Amino acid sequence: MTAQRWPMARVLVVEDEGRMATLLARGLGEEGYAVDVAVTGPEALSRATEHPYDAIVLDVMLPGASGVEVCRELRRRERWTPVVMVTARDAIWDRIAGLDSGADDYVVKPFAFSELAARVRALIRRGAREAAVLEVGTLRLDPVQRKVWRDGAEVALSRREFALLELMMRHAGEVLSRAAILEHVWGTSDHPRSNIVDQYIAYLRSKVDRGFGHRDIETLSGIGYRLRTPPPLPLPADGGA
Ligand code: CA
Repeated sequence: MTAQRWPMARVLVVEDEGRMATLLARGLGEEGYAVDVAVTGPEALSRATEHPYDAIVLDVMLPGASGVEVCRELRRRERWTPVVMVTARDAIWDRIAGLDSGADDYVVKPFAFSELAARVRALIRRGAREAAVLEVGTLRLDPVQRKVWRDGAEVALSRREFALLELMMRHAGEVLSRAAILEHVWGTSDHPRSNIVDQYIAYLRSKVDRGFGHRDIETLSGIGYRLRTPPPLPLPADGGA
């Protein structure tokens, strides 16, 4: 049974294989969405730029431009419609590149339609991201363009340093254990260099903290690390100018 939705959410399906496109369009239509289909990268890009879709189901292998390129370009144009990337089986690189490009989720072919529908539903419920750029105090990080600024100045970070800072900014104010950092940034619970996390924290500190006269990356001895959140701004006084 289809839940009542008003106004009807609109989904763009980007898929060049005719049978698959028909299947997805029909299935999502039965879920209660208005569905459009695009069959090339450039067509997807122009449609998604012009129309405010609620979600995009984006195949990676497309004529004209890949799904990864389409997604990256959409984000560059500041179109934040949630994207579910559809990748080939075992193409792990695709998945990583897909998420790096600003996709919100992915499914791997072959997939059960119910799985895709559940992801589309979850993304529509969550809504478009207001902004992709993270801000904590005077630190800014753009996960799509992979850029970092401190006090307005761009800072060059290595890939690991970037991943570490992104993790800390997404969890600003929370204590992150060394084990949690290792798991998220290195994808392992067991690194041959036991002090690797501390080493990278030190690199990060010298690049985004000390170099700018800040001390926002805190060490909680024996527990882990925390990125300090700025104190709330003072409320403007009543009747102030
Ligand atoms: Ca394809």
